[in-house]
Amino acid sequence: MSNKAKETSVRIQDDLFQSVNSEWLSSVAIPSDKPAINAFEEIDVAVEEKLTEEFDRLAENYDAEGVPALKDAVLLYKKALDTNAREEAGIKPLLPLLERIKNVKSVDEFNLKSVDLMLDGVAFPFVLSVDEDVKDTTKHCLSVADPPIIIPDKSIYDKKIIRFFILSIYKKMMKKLLALTPLTKKEQKEYLSDSIKVDDSIRKLTKSPTEMADYVKLFNPMDLKDACDALKPFDFNGLMKGLYKDGVPAVINVYNPAYVKGFGSVFNERTFKAFVHWAYVGTLYSYAPALSKTISDLSKIYVNKLMGVKDNPTIKKQAYRLVSGEVFAGPVGVYYGKKYFGEKAKEDITFIAERIIAAYKDRMARNTFLAPETKEKAILKLDSIRVKMGYPDKYDEVYDSLKVSEDESFFDAMYRIKRTKLVASLNELNKPTDFSKWAMPAHVVNACYDPFKNDITFPAAILQKPFYGIDQSLEENLGGIGAVIGHEISHAFDNNGSHFDEKGCMNNWWKDEDFKKFEVLTEDMVKQFDGIIYHGAKVNGKLVVSENIADNGGVGVTLEIINGLQNADYRAYFTNWGRIWRFKAKENYIKLLLRLDVHSPAELRANIAPRNFSEWYKAFDVKETDKMFIEEGKRISIW
Ligand SMILES: [Zn+2]
Repeated sequence: MSNKAKETSVRIQDDLFQSVNSEWLSSVAIPSDKPAINAFEEIDVAVEEKLTEEFDRLAENYDAEGVPALKDAVLLYKKALDTNAREEAGIKPLLPLLERIKNVKSVDEFNLKSVDLMLDGVAFPFVLSVDEDVKDTTKHCLSVADPPIIIPDKSIYDKKIIRFFILSIYKKMMKKLLALTPLTKKEQKEYLSDSIKVDDSIRKLTKSPTEMADYVKLFNPMDLKDACDALKPFDFNGLMKGLYKDGVPAVINVYNPAYVKGFGSVFNERTFKAFVHWAYVGTLYSYAPALSKTISDLSKIYVNKLMGVKDNPTIKKQAYRLVSGEVFAGPVGVYYGKKYFGEKAKEDITFIAERIIAAYKDRMARNTFLAPETKEKAILKLDSIRVKMGYPDKYDEVYDSLKVSEDESFFDAMYRIKRTKLVASLNELNKPTDFSKWAMPAHVVNACYDPFKNDITFPAAILQKPFYGIDQSLEENLGGIGAVIGHEISHAFDNNGSHFDEKGCMNNWWKDEDFKKFEVLTEDMVKQFDGIIYHGAKVNGKLVVSENIADNGGVGVTLEIINGLQNADYRAYFTNWGRIWRFKAKENYIKLLLRLDVHSPAELRANIAPRNFSEWYKAFDVKETDKMFIEEGKRISIW
């Protein structure tokens, strides 16, 4: 890009984000079915368009070889598009399940039927999942989590007016959905008000998003016997025996001990009727996308309003998102990666990632606040990181068992698939951990670090411009995907990652004094962001601190590589860093993110991270009088 094209009324020294993105900001429109547009979403829109075209083509004439389960995905897509059949069926396919819930008259009866109700996707008073066992991650453990609540941020429940407003949107939507059921008008009212009451009793015990983000506190082993006692009058032992016929687990893991301890207030003989109503309403809501398009659209009213989204996606987009997003993510990802990414790019980006890990090791060796033995372990952790770039060679076995048949209905297929996948995931419990499994499929525009596997995953979809291009300069790639790779690696050493060792086991390998020094640096980072006014609201420095530390590490480590290049183009580096954070969103969504998101607003990520590095000042001759200047004493570099 020539310097001329970059010229705008905003000087880069004052505002990198506005200067680099002004043209984009003035020309881009937020899609009507999305709350925001950014570099990630733009790629997502393009990937979606490409794959929807492919699905249409494959639905006409299937010719994809080598990814057998894709055929079932395409068949399910076709069924999702058959709106005539879906509209004609309406709510009918769900009625037998709703009837089964309604007819459970006592706690004893619920206990007798609990296995089937859970596997059939009925809203349950807790959620089971199989995770890596953090004592020994080669094995699994069974975890008990709280059920989801209506308003994702529990602190809103204390703010009466906002709570009333948000719940009224939810109620309005549920009234419309309940009106489709055979319940009488009186019952509809009673079911809804009971389900709000039960939601409130769950909310009082549940963890906030910030508490859920503290991984160490999610691991609370409990003897099965103690769990059974705590969950009474629910027959947890009966459920375990039904699910694990070859032997029940001796110990289970509890995400939120307060919930298990207070469980009796959510589920007991006295509140049982209200609980059944809650389960009925919750199941209706969760199955809505598998019913007609009309019902599916109705069920989106609440979430759309919460995010400021105006329109529902077209039926094609809905069908594609459903099939590729949740149900058949694995095979769609393998197909996308093989076809659109390829081996050459995979090799190139893996090489870049390894270079970043090597630079990280060099920096770690020079670290001044960790004790020598801690540094040694940090380097061992860096050496052990598994790098997953582009796409996996295979998808999970379970997808091959999801055979969709020509003559089953859309709902029946969805119902059966949901059950099969849940059974398969619960059956992982007694199998060894498969470290080759990918945390994200290749067609998703995202990236992650998994502390329990000590791996980084970069799906093919994010490995595109502006993040990465095989024809972009190394500096541009480092300012884009490179800094993001460095960011993800930094999570191995943040407030979560530092509690897990090179094998992903929970093992405190830091000395107390290391932590104290790290905490001081963390506090500096909290202050750098805390209280900044953004769209009329304040940034919560504590909520976003880990992600800001990761950004700081990502920029630091990539600049380290650039410093070793001859005639390095620092301007290209920072310009692309500013470009990858371009972002435009609905006001509602911006406010929601400020409350819930552990990441800072993208504009601040673009503009604050560079100021901590001397390279920024040199690259653009940034002076004290410029807005993107901070004094040397206030510049932070942690990793
Ligand atoms: Zn992150």
